[in-house]
Amino acid sequence: MPGSSSRCAVWGIALMDKLTLKWRLFAFLLGFCALLMVILWLFQTVLLTDMYKFIRTREMEQAITLVEENIDSETLSAILYDLEQNKEIMVAQTHEFSPPPKQVDANRNRRQPETITQTKTIQKQDGTSVSMTFYAIITPVNATVSTLQMQLYLITGIMLLCAVVLAVIIARRISKPIEQINKSAKLLATGNYDIQCRGHGFLEIKELSDTLNTAAAELSKVEALRRELMANISHDLRTPLALIYSYAEMMHDFPAEITPAQTQTIMDETQRLTSLVGDVLDVSRLETGTMELRKTTYNLTESLRGSIERTAVLVKNDGYTLCLEAAEDAYVHADEIKITQAFYNLLINAIHYSPTDRDIQVRQHIADGFVTIAVMDHGEGIAPENLPYIWDRYYKVDKKHRRSVTGTGLGLSIVKKILDLHGGRYGVDSTQGKGSTFWFSLKLA
Ligand code: ADP
Repeated sequence: MPGSSSRCAVWGIALMDKLTLKWRLFAFLLGFCALLMVILWLFQTVLLTDMYKFIRTREMEQAITLVEENIDSETLSAILYDLEQNKEIMVAQTHEFSPPPKQVDANRNRRQPETITQTKTIQKQDGTSVSMTFYAIITPVNATVSTLQMQLYLITGIMLLCAVVLAVIIARRISKPIEQINKSAKLLATGNYDIQCRGHGFLEIKELSDTLNTAAAELSKVEALRRELMANISHDLRTPLALIYSYAEMMHDFPAEITPAQTQTIMDETQRLTSLVGDVLDVSRLETGTMELRKTTYNLTESLRGSIERTAVLVKNDGYTLCLEAAEDAYVHADEIKITQAFYNLLINAIHYSPTDRDIQVRQHIADGFVTIAVMDHGEGIAPENLPYIWDRYYKVDKKHRRSVTGTGLGLSIVKKILDLHGGRYGVDSTQGKGSTFWFSLKLA
């Protein structure tokens, strides 16, 4: 019934899907043993007699060919003797034979042994022919079969035992560590990032557990950053919003007393909010890889000169002087808007973190096919212990969010992402109290 057999197959597959690795291994081992046993039983008991007869027939055919080839040879008698001794094949000229051959039967078996007989007329070189009869003794295999059956019972028992022992060992070595890793992975899925997978036994299991440990560590970092981001952003949003609200409230209650300073504050704070939202959007676009580079070959020096001049106008009244030192024009193949954004972030930082000495220099240096842009300030500098972290998202050296310093903690992480996308290099040299030099370099076009 094809219907019921296909249902059985489906049921079997469904059952296999539900089995744990341990039981599945056990089932496979058992199946393999059963197959081996069936093959052994088939060949060693059921087909033994037939196979033996088949082999004897082949041996006899080979003997006939051998005798045919050597009928005129002097070695014929030696060949015949050899056939009788080693193959138990007797050859006789038809008229002189009286079957069955004497020496093989009586002592071994009381019953007359079965033989395969074939008569062949062989042509000699002198033109005469001789008729020869070949007898191959078929030794009864019944006794052998029962011995083999006995052995097979034993072998089946031993194989079953081995299958169980092997399944247990393999289950211990493979499925146990996988079960443990699975447990840890489930914990990880519930948000517990403190898990420690200890995979052992096989290289793949060890690698899997190392990967899970790395994933857990990375997830925990992301989680910490997410919390920090929420805290930073809510703080950075709340402060300007509160200021805007209080100034707007004042203007609402005393419309006659509106001063330019009040409206300026509202404008400044709105600007601050806009730049914060812009930075957050940029970071998320850079991180998700949705920000595409529109590369063109352009004059980097000219582009930076424009940015510096525009910024210089804005900060001139605060006493800042910005200057560019560039011996020649450098052309690069890059996304001009992004590189300008990165440079602008460095320039704005130099301005923000230089409250006293307000001279900012931008130096361009060309060497070995690369152009390096360095933004140098003589401001507060950065403590060596903070230097490795300033490129991280939301990292601010001053955790107290001084109002005098605008900052989202995203500026340098945007610089880093943009330069990474361009395959550029970047870095900083800074001495606390003396100033910092932020630099980046790009390949010349
Ligand atoms: P922020 O928006 O806070 O400036 P950034 O990612 O641009 O964030 O910079 C991270 C931190 O690196 C800043 O909080 C600041 O402490 C430090 N930093 C960046 N540039 C300078 C600089 N030119 N001089 C001193 N400190 C700097």
